[in-house]
Amino acid sequence: MAKAVGIDLGTTNSVIAVMEGGKPEVIVNAEGARTTPSVVAYKGDERLVGQIAKRQAALNPAATLFEVKRFIGRRWEEVKEEAARSPFKVKEGPGGSVRIEVNGKDVAPEQVSAEVLRKMVADASAKIGQNIKDVVITVPAYFDNSQREATRQAGEIAGLNVLRVINEPTAAALAYGIDKKGNETVLVFDLGGGTFDVTILELGDGVFEVKSTSGDTHLGGADFDHRIVDWLAGEFKQEHNFDLKKDPQALQRLIESAEKAKIELSAASETTISLPFITFDPETRTPLHLERKLTRAKFEELVSDLLRRVREPVTQALRDAKLSASDIDEVILVGGSTRVPAVKRIVREIMGKEPNESVNPDEAVALGAAVQAGIISGDAALGDIVLVDVTPLTLGVEVKGGMVAPLIPRNTTVPAKKTEVFTTAENNQPGVEINVLQGERPMAADNKSLGKFKLEGIPPMRAGQPQIEVTFDIDANGILHVTAREKSSGKESSIRIENTTTLDKNEVERMVREAEANAEADRSRREHVEKKNTLDSLRLQAQQQVEEASSAPQDLKDKVSKLADEAKQAVESDADNARLQSLTTDLEAALRELMQAAPQGGSQPQAEAKKDDDVVDADFKPAD
Ligand code: AMP
Repeated sequence: MAKAVGIDLGTTNSVIAVMEGGKPEVIVNAEGARTTPSVVAYKGDERLVGQIAKRQAALNPAATLFEVKRFIGRRWEEVKEEAARSPFKVKEGPGGSVRIEVNGKDVAPEQVSAEVLRKMVADASAKIGQNIKDVVITVPAYFDNSQREATRQAGEIAGLNVLRVINEPTAAALAYGIDKKGNETVLVFDLGGGTFDVTILELGDGVFEVKSTSGDTHLGGADFDHRIVDWLAGEFKQEHNFDLKKDPQALQRLIESAEKAKIELSAASETTISLPFITFDPETRTPLHLERKLTRAKFEELVSDLLRRVREPVTQALRDAKLSASDIDEVILVGGSTRVPAVKRIVREIMGKEPNESVNPDEAVALGAAVQAGIISGDAALGDIVLVDVTPLTLGVEVKGGMVAPLIPRNTTVPAKKTEVFTTAENNQPGVEINVLQGERPMAADNKSLGKFKLEGIPPMRAGQPQIEVTFDIDANGILHVTAREKSSGKESSIRIENTTTLDKNEVERMVREAEANAEADRSRREHVEKKNTLDSLRLQAQQQVEEASSAPQDLKDKVSKLADEAKQAVESDADNARLQSLTTDLEAALRELMQAAPQGGSQPQAEAKKDDDVVDADFKPAD
């Protein structure tokens, strides 16, 4: 059986890891990198994923999708603001969900994430020589039910078997604590590209027990970048009266250079942002350039309110775990944005101690996910590790007057099951609508509705008489299942979730088929390009051999030249695979003949020596 892997499906970058000889290890991708940008680009009907997609972003801003994790499983209402600053078109989809419009077609964020997952798993399968199917995917601890469910569906669309969805900070703690012997209370401070999570855990004797978790799913490194973008665009507007943010290509370049500047400021105290030819003066049509110096102090001023926002979730997590900062033995930093010096400073300030930087902030989550994948698939080297996680947000139902009746409070250990009895508010009420809510606010309208369903066919009874049992069941993935039953009639409702943002089963199935067909199209497109390149390099070799093989018979040289000409034409006119293949075979044979007739000519025909596999990657290397 192929190994199960762990995947950190990040906002900005993703990482995949596997257990190797009892230790989790990162698997490099086809480009040889340990992290893969979570970027998908659509070019015609071709999809580019990872670095190759990221590189062409400025030239293809409307169809290069990044930070899609911010939209997965979300309601349109929740992400409007983030959508507005995207160079690609994010809009409202069916049932208040979010869709991205690319080349006139709507795609769900789940489909985009599925492309990232598919590439990572395909690359990893090739690397370890096994066809990987089973995966553990991580999500921010503070992801709600629909965000988790949508992430699981992304895995499904990618044709994977999602063994478990686990929380990123918990995974990071697994990576940190796997070799630790004693008991420790740790706080994982995870500030990534798009989300912020705080988790407090107790580790000891192979047990990883989450005590509390808190966070902010709208806070991450990308927000820092956008502050720099706003500042640059603001200054530019003042100077040139031109709004760069309205030009998608300029906006994409601004975002890229803002991130680069931010990263440089983690090591240097100042940096220069230089964007020549950023746009044209609308009146004079002369090119305009942007050049600005950004100091670390100015950057910290631009993001000061964002930095302050990390304080509350830390305090909340400590309060929920009934601990104070001094009870925490180690503060573990995870997520690329913890490299920002001001972030470390604020952690030091809140916690009153130096943060522990022993884990690699980019890789710890994937490594921990690989450990979890190992545990689930029974990797003997892991022994008896037990992971106890919690649900991040309170779950309840709406009751009379628009109030919330909580069933499962936040930070309850999962899996968890809870039943409560409700009743009717009116005489002879034939049915009830159950509105399932997630969040901490007392009024239903202020929380997230995960879905509504109806229990109908309640026998006529006076108000308050029916006994309606509502059961909430959270599985180990943190995903909720709800049932309702009227006791006297035994009537049970089949849940009909309305107004949900996650995809229904049919949609998922359609997307799985689409993704498979796309993968097949990609494979055949790739095969076609390989064939063209093989023939083209053979043609070059043939032309060279004809020049060098002076002693060979003229008719043989003519034959090779003629075939080389035909090959050139076939490549240029994009001939079909059959034609490319037959020319390759003929040219190889002719070339071999030529070399036998004039052996001083040099090397063997290359295409014959090369297997298909050898040529693949070279063909796909993008031009810088
Ligand atoms: P993650 O989601 O953990 O991959 O974190 C990605 C975020 O970390 C992005 O916003 C990156 O720009 C940011 N990041 C990565 N390296 C650094 C660095 N050296 N300094 C500041 N931010 C960084």
